[in-house]
Amino acid sequence: MVEKPSSNSACAEAEEFFSYCPHCGIELETTEIEPDKFRRRCPGCAWVQYLNPIPVVVGVAHNSTGEILLGRRNLPPARGEWALPGGFMEAGESPEQTCLRELFEETALEAAQPRLLGVYSEYTDYYGELLIVAYAVKITGGSLQIDKTELQEAEFVSPATLPAIPFPSHLDAISRYQQLTGQR
Ligand SMILES: [Zn+2]
Repeated sequence: MVEKPSSNSACAEAEEFFSYCPHCGIELETTEIEPDKFRRRCPGCAWVQYLNPIPVVVGVAHNSTGEILLGRRNLPPARGEWALPGGFMEAGESPEQTCLRELFEETALEAAQPRLLGVYSEYTDYYGELLIVAYAVKITGGSLQIDKTELQEAEFVSPATLPAIPFPSHLDAISRYQQLTGQR
């Protein structure tokens, strides 16, 4: 696990992120918007730079025998380690759509019937705070062909014999999938 930054370092990040208001171009100032909570704020139009987590969607994609698909990541964070397929939510799509799109982009597999497994907050030193939404999805078509930019390899594994996975959210989602399907 990576240590979360203190609110002070989040404040320092905030100061680096924007110097000027993206609406009116006035130099931002640091304001204490609530006790001990500092934000960059525009003195002209009152725009506030919030530090929101980035939404990510992952899928526990299972085949007809209950095995789940894991990919060995080729991109940071955790390059070279096993994880659930997934990625960043795009504006204009639902989290279910993100889940199915990312699975298809990374593995050329089609899936359906997304069922919500959990919603998590997780910190990675590469992207900062993430909001991770996990679905179980049933693979319905396609043949496994990985996008080598995103993954080094992909494999179906039994949830009972997982390799090391560095994301607690993924492990919890897999555990909930097992509960859902009566595998434990
Ligand atoms: Zn402004």
